[in-house]
Amino acid sequence: MADYSQKVTSSFNERIRLIRLRRKKENLRFWDEFRIIPKWLVILVGILYLVAMTIAISVNHWNLRHNEANATIAPELVDFPVLEALVMAAAVTAISLCMATLIFLTAYVNRDAYRRGMNGALWTLLTLILIPETLIMGHVIYFLMREPLPYPCPQCSASVSARFNFCPNCKCNLQPSCSNCKREVAELDKFCPYCGNDLTPGRAELTPQPSL
Ligand SMILES: [Zn+2]
Ligand SMILES: [Zn+2]
Repeated sequence: MADYSQKVTSSFNERIRLIRLRRKKENLRFWDEFRIIPKWLVILVGILYLVAMTIAISVNHWNLRHNEANATIAPELVDFPVLEALVMAAAVTAISLCMATLIFLTAYVNRDAYRRGMNGALWTLLTLILIPETLIMGHVIYFLMREPLPYPCPQCSASVSARFNFCPNCKCNLQPSCSNCKREVAELDKFCPYCGNDLTPGRAELTPQPSL
């Protein structure tokens, strides 16, 4: 029984290691990733920012004109209306940046989860629930837990999930194993990490791993 649970643990660790290797290969670029956020949301956030700015500055000006200095953001600047407006604009910008970051991060989690074949609705809900208490803790959990992206099969370039053992299109072995000790290795490994067997000369020698 102990032997069995040990086997499960080591197989789980090997799977985690392979997923980590695959994630390292993803090489995501910030602006490419930003583009998966829907355009209408970016435009909407931009419009909301302009509206907030207009309202804040107008209200501030109205307060200035009616000499209600206490109600303005910086009472000591009451004689410098332009400076006053700039301080107001900076405050609105700072708050908007924080809110926009939260909105865009949540939208990214939503789109990215669907792209990775995960439950997008559930992850979006989790991040939203955690925002009032912990701000971006839900997003951090998502980035740690997310599945690797589907990648092109090395043989036929069909898109395959990182969890597949064989390509459903060409039956290419996606989880190659060491010909000596039969344990799973990554496609890029030059030597078997378990027994040191040289894997470079024969990719063809790699024996197919029976599916789990
Ligand atoms: Zn294939
Ligand atoms: Zn080996």
